[in-house]
Amino acid sequence: MTDDALATAWNDVNARIARAAPRGGVTLVAVGKTHPPEAIRALAACGARAFGENYVQEAIAKQAALADLSLEWHAIGPVQSNKARDVARHFDWLQTLDRAKLVEPLARHRDAGLAPLNVLIQVNIDDEDSKSGCAPADVSQLADMVGRHPTLRLRGLMALPAPLDLARRRAAFRRMRALFDTLASARAGIDTLSMGMSDDFELAIAEGATMVRVGSALFGARSRRAGS
Ligand SMILES: *Cc1c(COP(=O)(O)O)cnc(C)c1O
Repeated sequence: MTDDALATAWNDVNARIARAAPRGGVTLVAVGKTHPPEAIRALAACGARAFGENYVQEAIAKQAALADLSLEWHAIGPVQSNKARDVARHFDWLQTLDRAKLVEPLARHRDAGLAPLNVLIQVNIDDEDSKSGCAPADVSQLADMVGRHPTLRLRGLMALPAPLDLARRRAAFRRMRALFDTLASARAGIDTLSMGMSDDFELAIAEGATMVRVGSALFGARSRRAGS
């Protein structure tokens, strides 16, 4: 996309978010996977600050190319155990904590001189075998584990519902909101429910999302090979 097209898309997505959430309170995370650092730089020039990346190595290369900008980086892809250190060192947020085994390595590798790593627990809300995310019943225990580490800061939940019809997606968003409300009523500092992407972020906001992750509606379509 040209820089002009990116600016148009940025304004359009923000206007749609403002209509869906007239009282504000929704953070837009721009998902730049497969797109070059130049595209992220152009979007940052429009005012974008939070960027989501799925692949750790790709993200680290982009961060190096954009080190002159003050951006907030969100890891939004599945995290292999051997990548916990890189995530702890190179990101501001991890949105996809889905198992107990990651907690200690993340906490240990987060430099105590940095702000704590913001963590969202990813929930497999459709109960799909093939998908990442913990079971809804495991959220509380994972939250307890994260809460024991001063270098981690639990902020809430994230979901990537299966691309089913809108009625079923709405139901999944609703179940997430209920889980989120339960978590937030039991603990301090829970303020983020990340759900909704290019083709359903308005629906997610209507169901209570406070953070949306938008890729193709901002950057244009990804190639099939490089996308997810
Ligand atoms: C790619 C991706 C997105 C953005 O998807 P779009 O449909 O391009 O908006 C959001 N969240 C996750 C976890 C992703 O992998």
